Amino acid sequence: MTTKELLDFDRDHLWHPYTSTVRPLPVYPVASAHGVKLVLADGRELIDGMSSWWAAVHGYNHPVLNAAAERQLQRMSHVMFGGLTHEPAVELGRKLLEILPPSMEKLFYADSGSVAVEVAMKMAIQYWQSGGLAKKHRFATIRSGYHGDTWHAMSVCDPVTGMHGLFSGALPVQYFLPQPPVRFGEPWDDDAIRPLEDLLSQHADELAALILEPVVQGAGGMYFYSPQYLVRARELCDRHHVLLIFDEIATGFGRTGKLFAWEWAGVEPDIMCIGKALTGGYMTLSAVATTEAIASQVCSGEAGCFMHGPTFMANPLACAVASASVSLLLESGWQERVRRIERQLREELAPAAALPGVREVRVLGAIGVVEMRKPVDLPRIEEAFVQAGIWVRPFGKLVYVMPPFIISEAELHQLTGGLLQVLEKGDGLSE
Ligand SMILES: *Cc1c(COP(=O)(O)O)cnc(C)c1O
Repeated sequence: MTTKELLDFDRDHLWHPYTSTVRPLPVYPVASAHGVKLVLADGRELIDGMSSWWAAVHGYNHPVLNAAAERQLQRMSHVMFGGLTHEPAVELGRKLLEILPPSMEKLFYADSGSVAVEVAMKMAIQYWQSGGLAKKHRFATIRSGYHGDTWHAMSVCDPVTGMHGLFSGALPVQYFLPQPPVRFGEPWDDDAIRPLEDLLSQHADELAALILEPVVQGAGGMYFYSPQYLVRARELCDRHHVLLIFDEIATGFGRTGKLFAWEWAGVEPDIMCIGKALTGGYMTLSAVATTEAIASQVCSGEAGCFMHGPTFMANPLACAVASASVSLLLESGWQERVRRIERQLREELAPAAALPGVREVRVLGAIGVVEMRKPVDLPRIEEAFVQAGIWVRPFGKLVYVMPPFIISEAELHQLTGGLLQVLEKGDGLSE
């Protein structure tokens, strides 16, 4: 197949994320990837600034992860999890329970981040049902969140940047709180928690859970807020008998500078979702963790079990790679790497703040965000990034990078340099 044939078929028949089939945006054909580089079909190499949406923390084509996949492939790539079990699922479970919050004891493997969020929400509802409180079936969340694209996950995404307008009337209505106003690193102001306090004191009898991304909001706004919000939210949820769900699908596995973002606050959730970097970006897998007490109550109701079971639950191939990825991460000196990336991003992205189109530059862990004043012209800016030899995919006003942790100082320098060069030249920026 020629590259032209490939692109023609793609344009005529394949849907891309959030993209029109009528006016398709350009796509770049990737032939292979290794380390932090994406190799395009024409041989050009791009430094990857996205980790394929938070996932590829070890970069691409990693020998250890490849070996884990190949080894498992020789045994079996999949068997059903109903009535059967296997070593990859158990080994991964053991490793995860060692690094998840101490109160987490029960794990549910799911297919993707969105499904993990559905599972977590369903678990919360079944928990209250079993406790004789079936009225507690609604959810509270904070604005600018992102929790996935499936039905209930979508209902707790930001009502403005999310899809509420489009699906209004069809989506379950949830309670939205303001985005936590105290930013990460700023002194705490207890007024920031009043809206949650008010909501819980008025509506706790309908609320199953509060769901949020701890400390770092990802696709909903790339925003970093005070961990103290979580401390106060934990207290209030306890007082009002509302469960607390942490969606760590983006923040997990070291990205924010802690292995999981809850550690910034030191308060544990009742239910926690992980995904994205779980397999090091090799394939889709997610997990939902909860406590012994919640699992027991979920299973003590009318149904007698948790009512969920995906076909590809605990896929052995995915579990084997995830298991290798978790070990690799823990042995890799990830904390030092993330600290180094953070230092370098702070230093090298800082000059962007002086550019006229830039509203703000912010960095936390291995995440660097340049917030523009106006939305960028995606196809034009992307072309400019590719010309500069880097892969960065902005959305709206947000131009951001979250590179694989294995990125070298020189490669990161190339990434931030290319980014700045494009923003300075102004290609793809609105007037
Ligand atoms: C990406 C993401 C999801 C959805 O995960 P998918 O694997 O894309 O379904 C949910 N929550 C957060 C915080 C995410 O970043």
